[in-house]
Amino acid sequence: MLCDKILEDRDFGHLYIIVNRRAVRYTFRPANDGTPTVGIRVTVPPHYDVKDVLRAVETNRPQLLSMLQVSQTAKDKKKPSLRIDWDFRIETDCLIVSLVKGVGTKFMLHRLPAQIAKDAQGEDIIVKPAVLEIHCPPDCDFEKDGMQAFLERAIVEGIRNHAKAQLLPRLLGYAKRYGIQLNVVKVNSSKGRWGSCSQHKQRTLLNNKKCFNINLSLFTLLLPMRLQKLILLHELTHTIYMDHSPAFHAHLNAWLGGKEAALEKELKNYNTSIFPFVKKE
Ligand SMILES: [Zn+2]
Repeated sequence: MLCDKILEDRDFGHLYIIVNRRAVRYTFRPANDGTPTVGIRVTVPPHYDVKDVLRAVETNRPQLLSMLQVSQTAKDKKKPSLRIDWDFRIETDCLIVSLVKGVGTKFMLHRLPAQIAKDAQGEDIIVKPAVLEIHCPPDCDFEKDGMQAFLERAIVEGIRNHAKAQLLPRLLGYAKRYGIQLNVVKVNSSKGRWGSCSQHKQRTLLNNKKCFNINLSLFTLLLPMRLQKLILLHELTHTIYMDHSPAFHAHLNAWLGGKEAALEKELKNYNTSIFPFVKKE
């Protein structure tokens, strides 16, 4: 089915006119176009008359409004709760984040590094994940203005410290293994990109040397170890191929033992925010 026309509407946002050869009358359904107002799909027979459709919308406006309201409520209910409170918990391969009832009126960050060992191939194995506890006053009011934003900032800063301690040595370890020289490596709070690699030329007296900088999003630490490896090796492959050409993928896939496609597919289940990782008890 193809959308024939999109009309603006004062209440519904958009009316999507859909022509269906078998339709004999107009049917109205909520549309989900991702805008705050859900919008309405109007299915019409071929050779319809736009003015007549608009007249039908006008006649049925009250019923259509209540239909949309029901649909919007159902959509809101489906949204996961993004609240930080005593039940907030992130538990991943490398890190456990939780809120703890402290004493007094102060907020404190409590961090313990991960216990890491090496397997026969020299890959990191997590013996014990790192710990990040946010100690809050026992009577902490999670509804208070600004409290959610404050706690999210505290958690993100705590994760950043752990990410620096774990991801940077891991990245440098792979770089060393593959003989890659890096200039600057940093952990940022990028939402939307797990990592990035940039190149610049450094002029020395003798020659122009190529230098590579890698930035990793702190949220990378929350991924399973195999996906962290995908991100780290992806960025390191960019020091050889700056594009995403077939040669780039062939190289990366070889480093990943032929698993690049499967890992990329798995990575699509995650995004760069703390919330996909939250477990509610
Ligand atoms: Zn890339």
